[in-house]
Amino acid sequence: MRTTVGIIGGGPAGLLLARLLHRAGIDCVVLESRDRAYVERRQRAGILEQGTVDVLRACGASERLDREGLTHHGIELRFEGRAHRVDLPGATGGKSVTVYAQTEIVKDLIALQLADPAGPPLLFGAEALAIEKPDSAAPVVRFRHEGREQTLTCDFVAGCDGFHGIARRTVPADRIRTFERAYPYSWLGVLADVPPSCKELIYARHQRGFALHSMRSPRVSRLYLQVPNDTDTADWSDERIWDELATRFAVDGEWALERGPITATSLTPMRSFVQEPMRHGRLFLAGDAAHIVPPTGAKGLNLAVSDVVTLARALAHHHQTGSTELLDGYSATCLRRVWQAERFSYFMTETLHRRPDQSPFEDRLQLAQLDRIATSPTASAELAENYVGLPLS
Ligand SMILES: Cc1cc2nc3c(=O)[nH]c(=O)nc-3n(C[C@H](O)[C@H](O)[C@H](O)COP(=O)(O)OP(=O)(O)OC[C@H]3O[C@@H](n4cnc5c(N)ncnc54)[C@H](O)[C@@H]3O)c2cc1C
Repeated sequence: MRTTVGIIGGGPAGLLLARLLHRAGIDCVVLESRDRAYVERRQRAGILEQGTVDVLRACGASERLDREGLTHHGIELRFEGRAHRVDLPGATGGKSVTVYAQTEIVKDLIALQLADPAGPPLLFGAEALAIEKPDSAAPVVRFRHEGREQTLTCDFVAGCDGFHGIARRTVPADRIRTFERAYPYSWLGVLADVPPSCKELIYARHQRGFALHSMRSPRVSRLYLQVPNDTDTADWSDERIWDELATRFAVDGEWALERGPITATSLTPMRSFVQEPMRHGRLFLAGDAAHIVPPTGAKGLNLAVSDVVTLARALAHHHQTGSTELLDGYSATCLRRVWQAERFSYFMTETLHRRPDQSPFEDRLQLAQLDRIATSPTASAELAENYVGLPLS
């Protein structure tokens, strides 16, 4: 097989890149190791920055998002029994975020790609095994599909295969630098068939640890609890989960947490990670293949989108003009935004979670930080501006 851009990974980054390239008249092939049902069911992100919504709209992938996405104009911070609402449009000149699950974006992009007879091939159950000669003019992706080993020769390879993929490990160790932080806690996440108990997301900082009340739709709640890294989810009965959530969300005045059947439970370790540069020869890394953020700032999916927008623009520029200028600048352009998201995600994580060895002094600093956001329009605007997303470069 031969194509212009070989895309490894059919997550949000790979699928959106394929759509953007197809619309720019550039052929590509997407290789996804899992089957379609698995990819469409994998529960992950749910908060879309304004820029992400704009990109999905511009590439014709927002029909259901426009109908079913929930626009949120604020988030609530809870600490010490207090509740403080951060007004997103008020602090950012009118910007907001949209709640629409990553599973739904993936379903929409897959359906669009498969419905178009001229659309780029999307192979499920196609596991990339190796990227050969990434720094040559014709890199080759070796992959296994339907029990056979095959090769895909490309002009460019896009490594959109997530944190555990092969793309980032293809780059020789002496050509990269990695930056990493592992946090001493994880998120126990639950999906529950119960209408959310709040109109907007609640981020709670409690002496017992962090809790987040999010949602997937007007009928489905998504909730998270900070737990130790070695947590066994079997130790958490539904009743224990609801009791702990109610304790951490407790606030002075009238408020009650609605309980309902829990339909899925997951454990997510918290990590910050960046691999630099995001390019090696004709291999370009995008999304989780190049960087990870802890989910507290809701930035992972949004960063994957901004990476592939930058990459698609650079490939289209090369296609039209033959110039490699934008491709040469790809890594530096993306990393500026990546590090801002890393900084914000770290800030949100460190401000809202309690480390097992946290001192009373650090407790007081966290509360002072939250009090500052609650009382200073400047501090509140700084949070809002980052939460709705910095401009795409
Ligand atoms: C458990 C969890 C919870 C999360 N929660 C949030 C959240 O609340 N908010 C938020 O903003 N972000 C969250 N994230 C992060 C967000 O989901 C990711 O940033 C986003 O999925 C990145 O998209 P991606 O396409 O780069 O990578 P992925 O979604 O990981 O997609 C990579 C794809 O590549 C495929 N693949 C891997 N290896 C190969 C191979 N060798 N050959 C072919 N295909 C391959 C995989 O099957 C996968 O489909 C979460 C992530 C995880 C893991």
